[in-house]
Amino acid sequence: MTRRRQIYEGKAKILYEGPEPGTLIQYFKDDATAFNAQKKGTINGKGVLNNRISEHIFTLLSTIGVPTHFIRRLNMREQLIRQVEIVPIEVVVRNVAAGSIVKRLGIEEGTQLPRTIIEYYYKDDALGDPMVADEHIACFGWASQEEMHDIADMAIRVNDFMCGLFAGIGIRLVDFKLEFGRFWDNDYSRVILADEISPDGCRLWDMTTGEKLDKDRFRQDLGGEVEAYQEIARRLGLMPDGDNMILDLETHRKNRGK
Ligand code: UDP
Repeated sequence: MTRRRQIYEGKAKILYEGPEPGTLIQYFKDDATAFNAQKKGTINGKGVLNNRISEHIFTLLSTIGVPTHFIRRLNMREQLIRQVEIVPIEVVVRNVAAGSIVKRLGIEEGTQLPRTIIEYYYKDDALGDPMVADEHIACFGWASQEEMHDIADMAIRVNDFMCGLFAGIGIRLVDFKLEFGRFWDNDYSRVILADEISPDGCRLWDMTTGEKLDKDRFRQDLGGEVEAYQEIARRLGLMPDGDNMILDLETHRKNRGK
């Protein structure tokens, strides 16, 4: 038996060589990090939930014409994706003030922003992912003007869609992070949505209680991380029995394999 080749290991995911050229397998781990990896932990079952939640959202986005790297889910923790060249920019979309904007600009947490804000951060762990302007991106050639135009356009479309999706299940989409990749088609490339969309990279608040149902539970030591992620999956209709079915199944498989 040959071991498949690992291409990259990140904080929450591993990328393996895919079955066909131009594809990769994205494996979702239970590892959680915060504050530029200064805080580390494990959220049991997170990878299974994020794989399923991200699959669901990416599939819906493709039905409204947003191109994504997602091809299909392979199993509980893995999905087949298109190989892309990641644009080294994290795109943050904000509807409500929370997290770094609260600290940076002194705005009260929970303030509804009068208009949606898009921010860009340069992906560099050693530098702590600094916020950058369009000018820096153009100046250092991290993405072309045309790519940035497409990225901003897609970020707004994703935001509009996700605001509606989450509002429909009683959740306020506070903010989220997107990543994009270049997909090569002969000599031409276009940018498509990559990475994942899950409670790891979104702030999701219950509309009536204000309860945080995202990674802030881990960042702020609130506890109940997996229950919060499960609640998101349940409201999205991904846990039909409203119980721990997905996780129970994995535990069952693991035990059987022992
Ligand atoms: N975010 C992320 N990865 C990062 C930084 C931010 O997924 O490396 C997400 C975060 O979960 C939140 C949004 O982007 O939903 C905005 O994050 P913010 O700038 O407020 O930074 P934070 O306070 O989370 O460090």
